[in-house]
Amino acid sequence: MKYKSTRGGVSGISFEEAVMMGLASDGGLLIPEKIPLFNEKDLKHLSELPYTKLAYEIISRFQEGIPSDDLMQIIQKTYSRFDNVNMIPVRKAAGMRIAELYHGPTYSFKDIALQFLGNLFEYILEKRKQKLNILGATSGDTGSAAIYGVKGKKNINIFMLYPSNRVSNIQELQMTTTESSNVFCLEVTGSFDNCQSLVKDVFSDLEFKEEYSLGAVNSINFARILAQMVYYFWIYFRTIRRVGEDINVVVPTGNFGNVFAGYMTKKMGLPITKLMIATNRNNILTRTVKFGDYSIERVHPTISPAMDIQIASNFERYLYYLYNEDCSKVSEAMERLKTDKEIDIRGHLLGQLQRDFIAGETSDEEMKNTIRQVFSKSDYVIDPHTACAVHAAEQMELVADNTVCLSTAHPAKFPEVIHEVLSVWPEMPSGLQNLEERQRRSERINPDESILKDFIAKNAK
Ligand SMILES: *Cc1c(COP(=O)(O)O)cnc(C)c1O
Repeated sequence: MKYKSTRGGVSGISFEEAVMMGLASDGGLLIPEKIPLFNEKDLKHLSELPYTKLAYEIISRFQEGIPSDDLMQIIQKTYSRFDNVNMIPVRKAAGMRIAELYHGPTYSFKDIALQFLGNLFEYILEKRKQKLNILGATSGDTGSAAIYGVKGKKNINIFMLYPSNRVSNIQELQMTTTESSNVFCLEVTGSFDNCQSLVKDVFSDLEFKEEYSLGAVNSINFARILAQMVYYFWIYFRTIRRVGEDINVVVPTGNFGNVFAGYMTKKMGLPITKLMIATNRNNILTRTVKFGDYSIERVHPTISPAMDIQIASNFERYLYYLYNEDCSKVSEAMERLKTDKEIDIRGHLLGQLQRDFIAGETSDEEMKNTIRQVFSKSDYVIDPHTACAVHAAEQMELVADNTVCLSTAHPAKFPEVIHEVLSVWPEMPSGLQNLEERQRRSERINPDESILKDFIAKNAK
């Protein structure tokens, strides 16, 4: 399988090259040149496999360069660190199924992809005798999942910036207590925007970037999408009685990575009837699906912060398919987005978009009510992101035995909200206990580019 850019400027590159490139060098996103198809017989075979073998079967269809044994080893190493024997349990609650994607080391679904990406990086760097210094900014969840993806890995350092006093206590503790010598947390005395523009400034100094082999881990790496496709198959097999039956999937959505992985599996032949995008009041994607209006507004803070996003980076990958694989149309649309802050999707394209997705949005109040109702009806605690999915499904009358809501974070990561709504503190899983007692390591810096560069220069591999 070869990879190309959605904007047409890159093509014919290998999976390994795509992983190391991250963002395509023409500014587009990398996608596979073909989509492999699975028929009913293939699905029957896949339905009998444990998680690691299933992952191998799917991932190996998207790459050729890594020898089978090595790929299997990477996958096994990745998923041995999940603390539930079922990897992703699919439970019955709220009249539907809830797929708990959050049993990884940081209790966010992001672990499923970032643990895999970390191991891939380590493998490729070792083979190529290269080093990588990852630089990123976080307002919460992504930071700790990215750090846990690469902590202790050879030839990699990670520098993670976060705004002082603006991330939750648990999130800060998760990031700063890894006790790994290749993890550098930087508390920036400023806002998240300050952090992001610092990172941008450093990346735009190409000489510096080259000298210190700087790279990013953002949601646009195709390896992340690939790792996420696997669990759509897994969940499907745990919901149906017979291969061939249909399911609906509801996805709490921010950057469009998770739901795009679901869209790909549908194209590969997985029988998903309705694929639903659930947003909070940062509703760009809901507006897009309902009215064809992809226009960027201000970000509103909500109680599901991982979805407080206005630019859904992975949407470009979907546009490529919506525009019938016409790269020049994708480039034009992305140019328009830059200048006019909007893309207008009308006519038959809107019809196609509405056949591919449905969407719904949820307010903070509705999230809280949903958490309360699910607890009283099913004696089951969900986090605010998952509550968006459950509420969206209810809105669209999708409540049924074959509807699966993806649960993207452990409720214990949001103890204040759970306590406010249910008057009990959520039970802390082992990995979130005793964080307070561990050794913290973090460097406080002013939002100043030269201070950051000095710090990187001093500590880089
Ligand atoms: C990142 C995140 C999301 C959004 O996922 P996307 O792939 O960006 O759409 C939803 N819920 C949680 C808990 C997250 O951390």
